[in-house]
Amino acid sequence: MEVATRKPKRGCMFCGTKLHHTLVDLGMSPLCESYVSEDKLNQMEPFYPLHAYVCEKCFLVQLDEYVSAADIFTEYAYFSSYADSWVQHMKNYTDMIVPRLGLTKDSFVVEVASNDGYLLQHFVNRGIPVLGIEPAANVAKVAVEKGIPTLVRFFGCDTAKELAAEKKQADLIAGANVLAQVPDVNDFVKGLEILLKAKGVITIEFPHLMRLMEENQFDTIYHEHFSYFSLISAEKIFEAHGLTIFDVDEIPTHGGSLRIYARHAGDASHPVTPKLTELHDREIKAGFMRLDRYSTFTEQVNETKRKLLEFLISAKREGKSIAGYGAPGKGNTLLNFCGIRTDFIDYTVDRNTYKQGKFLPGTHIPILTPDTIRKTKPDYLFILPWNFKDEIMEQQAYIREWGGKFVVPIPEVKVFE
Ligand SMILES: [Zn+2]
Repeated sequence: MEVATRKPKRGCMFCGTKLHHTLVDLGMSPLCESYVSEDKLNQMEPFYPLHAYVCEKCFLVQLDEYVSAADIFTEYAYFSSYADSWVQHMKNYTDMIVPRLGLTKDSFVVEVASNDGYLLQHFVNRGIPVLGIEPAANVAKVAVEKGIPTLVRFFGCDTAKELAAEKKQADLIAGANVLAQVPDVNDFVKGLEILLKAKGVITIEFPHLMRLMEENQFDTIYHEHFSYFSLISAEKIFEAHGLTIFDVDEIPTHGGSLRIYARHAGDASHPVTPKLTELHDREIKAGFMRLDRYSTFTEQVNETKRKLLEFLISAKREGKSIAGYGAPGKGNTLLNFCGIRTDFIDYTVDRNTYKQGKFLPGTHIPILTPDTIRKTKPDYLFILPWNFKDEIMEQQAYIREWGGKFVVPIPEVKVFE
């Protein structure tokens, strides 16, 4: 049946082509980091469309612009240092990149979206000069207190030009967990090019669209993530701004990410690696340059939702109690899209004190302290940040004392005894 659908307000973020093709429409959803305090529970809450499109020309997957970046990122609840495995990931990155690029106390490292300094602290410990750039003032303050110089700004061409004029071009520009959140990808990537020394290297990590689609990770789509990249779409964007992606690592973070390595197009010191060519070819073979590859995703997402609801309904009919673990952004997309509230999940817990005592946006599931689990002994612990499931199952292994089991919703609902 032909149904009327929402028309996007603007063209493709990268190439300007009019957006016609839906990847998936997740309906109306609140901003996923807008935790609700108790005194606001009776007030109206803004919901925005959560509708992802794919550009028919460059195949960049993106949201239409519903909410401005300034509204989202100036007071951000995500402190990177709360996840142990993320901190370890960044330590491993430093151990790899410092010798690979021969970085010394004479080098200069810049991180865009430096958060609370979780990455740059490892360079500071090695005596390598750094600068963090972070738009969320509350998070940047934590970094500065740790002794990491941090500029409270959004990164783009303007910031890059100012730093370049002050002779602060970088030997290494790092970015993890930032490219997807950039509202103007052209301004951001051009800014990288301006800030990079002639022989410098950029490494950027982002969730891999191929993994998102193959493993039903639709809950990683939220308003804070404006775009979703394949290697191919990233290559096109970097190339348009005078940069060449010459190497790539496939890494496990966020359910499967890419770490790309880029340099100035004219810099011959880093040749393109066979690993890069292999992944580029693999994406083409998998159809990421064809529209029909994208058209089946909606049904895949709907089926994931049905299976999850089937599990929850039968668990509740058997009289089981279910508690959540974690209050990540992705959990809010999942719970709102699936209509899961306190009718299924009594409460969730989070180690982040900023979130404790608040309620999840939209679903109003209360966020309590982790020790609540031991007190209430739920039959199931529903892990919302499934990308950290191994770490969480290890930390919370004691639920087995009363026969508690773990539930992981993605790629499809699965119980771990
Ligand atoms: Zn496009």
